[in-house]
Amino acid sequence: MKAARQANAASRLRSMHDSLAAAYGPQYWWPAESAFEIILGAYLTQNTAWKAVERSLANLRGAGVLTLDALRAIALSDLQALIRPSGFHTRKAPALKAFVAMLDQEFSGSLESLAAAPTSALRPRLLALPGVGPETADAILLYALGLPVPVADEYLRRIAERHHLLADRPGLKSYDALADLTRRAFASDAQMTHARLFNEFHALTVAVGKTHCGRTAQCTGCPLLEDLEIALPTANGDERTPANSRQFDDRFDHSTSTLRKANE
Ligand code: SF4
Repeated sequence: MKAARQANAASRLRSMHDSLAAAYGPQYWWPAESAFEIILGAYLTQNTAWKAVERSLANLRGAGVLTLDALRAIALSDLQALIRPSGFHTRKAPALKAFVAMLDQEFSGSLESLAAAPTSALRPRLLALPGVGPETADAILLYALGLPVPVADEYLRRIAERHHLLADRPGLKSYDALADLTRRAFASDAQMTHARLFNEFHALTVAVGKTHCGRTAQCTGCPLLEDLEIALPTANGDERTPANSRQFDDRFDHSTSTLRKANE
């Protein structure tokens, strides 16, 4: 029963990808001109909005510091000043310098050599760097290095929680559970498509998070509303299925407004 529910959650997440793709179309992530700029963005976006990251990247571009060579050469204090708009500059600047030092010492300063290392060794190596958590490591692996690694974030966590997708995964840490669920959702797709699908899925969850599923859920008009109708409990406590869907209709408006209220 538990295995069936987990499989159900994964297949629902796969369908949610399709609903989001139909609603929003291709997302063309990550918004950057080079793999190194993606890595910079992955660090800078921690705990801050992308608009602030864009200001820091514009500063770096204006100062000619969007290359590995320039980041090696720039003084730490100057780097801190340039990335100040995206916050935590005293922590993020040394973290960026530490990334470049690791690249130079262990991968001959080459992002290609980094990408060629086995993902199973690369991920823990990135996680051992200062200022790198699972989301930053996985964003670098997926978007900068093109590896088939799912990225989870606060938007996906909210969606999974509101749609009761992780009810049977209490033993896993939230990030690992979300990444594992995403991996299982796309497990039936051809392996060679995984990097593209993980790329698109993360971008799409950010899109729906920004337009509908922020701190307050705005379910009306959301492309995932149909799945939410399945997820919310019916009057007798079961998940909604096509067979019992009529029992559910009267409860739905009340449930979603309660959800909205809980997140206000
Ligand atoms: S806004 Fe509502 S329907 Fe849309 S993803 Fe969030 S909880 Fe689901």
